[in-house]
Amino acid sequence: MLAVSMALLHHCSTPLARALCTPARDRARACSTVAMAMATAPSPSTPLRKSQPQQQVLLGMSENDLQQLALDLGQQSFRGKQLYHLIYKRKVREIQEFIQLPQAFRKELEEAGWKVGRSPIFQTVTAADGTVKLLLKLEDNRLVETVGIPVDEDKGSARLTACVSSQVGCPLRCSFCATGKGGFARNLRSHEIVEQVMAIEEVFNRRVTNVVFMGMGEPMLNLKAVLEAHRCLNKDIQIGQRMMTISTVGVPNTLKKLASHKLQSTLAVSLHAPNQKLREKIVPSAKSYPLNALMKDCREYYRETNRRVSFEYALLAGINDSVDNAVELAKLLHEWGPGYHVNLIPFNPIEGSEYRRPYKKAVQAFAAALESNKITVSVRQTRGLDANAACGQLRNNFQKSPLVTDAKSLETELPNMDLAVAS
Ligand code: SF4
Repeated sequence: MLAVSMALLHHCSTPLARALCTPARDRARACSTVAMAMATAPSPSTPLRKSQPQQQVLLGMSENDLQQLALDLGQQSFRGKQLYHLIYKRKVREIQEFIQLPQAFRKELEEAGWKVGRSPIFQTVTAADGTVKLLLKLEDNRLVETVGIPVDEDKGSARLTACVSSQVGCPLRCSFCATGKGGFARNLRSHEIVEQVMAIEEVFNRRVTNVVFMGMGEPMLNLKAVLEAHRCLNKDIQIGQRMMTISTVGVPNTLKKLASHKLQSTLAVSLHAPNQKLREKIVPSAKSYPLNALMKDCREYYRETNRRVSFEYALLAGINDSVDNAVELAKLLHEWGPGYHVNLIPFNPIEGSEYRRPYKKAVQAFAAALESNKITVSVRQTRGLDANAACGQLRNNFQKSPLVTDAKSLETELPNMDLAVAS
């Protein structure tokens, strides 16, 4: 399994105690915010919502699409192949830098409103272990985080994992998560996901080998763009489907949709608790998607795809890290079928968090209890602890004021969101 840190999880980090101690008025507001976000979550029957007019971007288009574009602009189709090569192989950032193409064609592309779709890197933070966290500055000046995690293995092979964001911020507000604390702005477009991987390649000057959709945001709330980005990363950037992991905290009516695409990628579901009561405290959106319903959908996902679901479990000291919790978790997983694996993620403290990281001994005891109950388990290695590592932390440093402060402003924001599910 991927040895990425808790820090790199989209199911990142936020104080549980804060959630437990939140005044009733705030709790009510948080719940209504979550309910609103979940209510607008895509379902198979949700019609596609019309997007705002957006600039046309080349990044994310397939070779066929680019050939068609060339034909539409009165060029021969090989110009489309050239575009493909320039965007994905040469990784050229601006149309005017496509010097292999005639100036007239470049001008025509620009006049027709096309651009490549690459954003500048706004900030880079490097940890002692080589993990690099980037902030990309998007067209609307919003900042999005992405993380590159290099792992040099025995036998000389070297992995480079990109942990990508799917939204600017996140509406789900998991209690331990820095991103949830920072509020929610909008869904990312598919090219804004793809370009994160390209930025990591640029910074490390080598190929990304693995991609995890575990950065800012809940991928299932932006499934259409996530699936489009997944296609592009697989076909155009040439990252194997099995080298990719899509992570979710659980959004009703989306796992079935994802299963229908029969991806070879791993589905990682963030549980963080072995029962509904505790889960609701850690993951408020669990109120709208009870644990039993989530587990049932995971079982269906496994039956449909034959792909093992991986469960993420952030260990929060004194909250969900007891041996009893481990035994209960094993029981839950056995109840819902075979093919399960648990990734334990010792909590990575974030600024202002009241949660604590468990002692190594507690982590080992938890893992041993799972193993003795016949659950395969891995403990995620913590990376980049000194690099503003928890998901959403770096962005929060530069964008202090929450993007959405209350349910009312979320309400005004949501109608403009493209929450469409891939059909
Ligand atoms: S608040 Fe959003 S980004 Fe953070 S853990 Fe929850 S689902 Fe993931």
